Amino acid sequence: EAITVQELANRMAEKGADLVKALFKLGMMVTVNQTIDQDTAELLVEEFGHNIQRVSASDIDIDTSADVDPEGSLKPRAPVVTIMGHVDHGKTSLLDALRGTDVVRGEAGGITQHIGAYQIKTKGGDLITFLDTPGHEAFTEMRARGAHVTDIVILVVAADDGIMPQTIEAINHTKAAGVPMIVAITKVDKHEANAQRIRERLLEHEVVVEAMSGEVQDVEVSAKTGAGLDELIEKILLQAEVMELQANPDRAAEATVIEAKLDKGKGPLASVLVTRGTLKVGDILVVGTHSGRVRAMLDDKGRQVKAAPPSLPVEVLGLGGVPMAGDTLTVVDSEARAREVAAYRQEKATAKRTAQAPASLENMFSALAAKQAVIEYPVVVKADVQGSTEAIVNALNRLSNDEIKLRVLASGVGAITESDVNLALASNAPIIGFNVRPNAKARELVERNKVRMKYFDVIYHLTEDIAKEMAGVWGPER
Ligand code: GDP
Repeated sequence: EAITVQELANRMAEKGADLVKALFKLGMMVTVNQTIDQDTAELLVEEFGHNIQRVSASDIDIDTSADVDPEGSLKPRAPVVTIMGHVDHGKTSLLDALRGTDVVRGEAGGITQHIGAYQIKTKGGDLITFLDTPGHEAFTEMRARGAHVTDIVILVVAADDGIMPQTIEAINHTKAAGVPMIVAITKVDKHEANAQRIRERLLEHEVVVEAMSGEVQDVEVSAKTGAGLDELIEKILLQAEVMELQANPDRAAEATVIEAKLDKGKGPLASVLVTRGTLKVGDILVVGTHSGRVRAMLDDKGRQVKAAPPSLPVEVLGLGGVPMAGDTLTVVDSEARAREVAAYRQEKATAKRTAQAPASLENMFSALAAKQAVIEYPVVVKADVQGSTEAIVNALNRLSNDEIKLRVLASGVGAITESDVNLALASNAPIIGFNVRPNAKARELVERNKVRMKYFDVIYHLTEDIAKEMAGVWGPER
């Protein structure tokens, strides 16, 4: 929990400048717009002779985590599956092939709408939901945001290739999440395919498939010929059965945002996956920092949906703004309540944003244009001479890619100071020191707040290290 200095001042009916002064005496250089953590805030409140009264977020915000559905209300729901694996190993092709097995789509000749996920009905009448964004980045980002939507992971490994870096990452992320895995050995139609070798190599990463007397189900597939697809579907259903996936469909709905965008004609759109309850047209809701009312819902076949049960992905129209992937959508009983919660969350979010360095508006627009949120990787750079600072900033800027944007919050020459540390602290950024170290006060602040420091004396090592960190931003250690 963080609060801006100004907000705290307002609540205490004190002058912001007086708080800044008091903070300065405590060894913190902050402006009225910056946020301070709860401990610091409490220290200040005491300093000014006020009483501390913690208002817990649950007094205003919605928290349904303790709200457990009674046993009898639970009904089976479709499993939600994510496909992961190395680039070019056939994730997208497999998703397309699986979509092609949908008997509903075959009958109705529906037009595929990409809404971030789709649901198929199998020949046997069972339902399976697939997340349409393959890869572990989205998976881990959602989990980092507290959204646990995936029930089963399909690890795709191309039979003509082998265990590659992203295969290993996918294995690690899946294990870290504790989500069961099914190995799909793809491209078995190719004559250079060697599925047995893949099974053997997986042993080195402690993935022991059934064919090797292990517990992990494996299946040979070809997205090209369709071979093995039925078997893969069977294995998903078997895994789902073991897991006894259930949800209560008869309650106010909760859902998780899997994708969101601003449509020129339709306004804010969010693709959501209902986690419990049934989402209906007309429902009043809060999603992230926005309120709204379900004006219409569309499924992945472009059909209007009046009521969305658990595990059905739908695109929702009628939101007051564009939420973020991983946000929770909650149905509430009045518009006043929806607005109150949204306003409270907005206030919190604004306090957080003002604590971050400038120019975020520009980033926000480019993120919107890209129709997906770009993750920022902020850093603070200090070096011994101006030439090095420039060279490092230029080299770091080149590390940005479509998914992660490296942002140099500040760069300068000389020892690392408290102001550098405070800046890093506010944005949860590491400080990069090139041939420099923190001064005494800064060191104290670093130790107190566990700010990450990285020291280098070779630029190449610096960029290499940061590139690795950026790649690992999604990692399980976060
Ligand atoms: P992704 O990067 O993991 O999503 O991989 P893609 O689905 O884009 O596939 C990468 C390449 O492998 C494409 O050229 C596909 O046509 C090809 N491919 C995917 N699955 C198969 C398969 O089962 N058999 C064959 N022969 N080629 C495949």
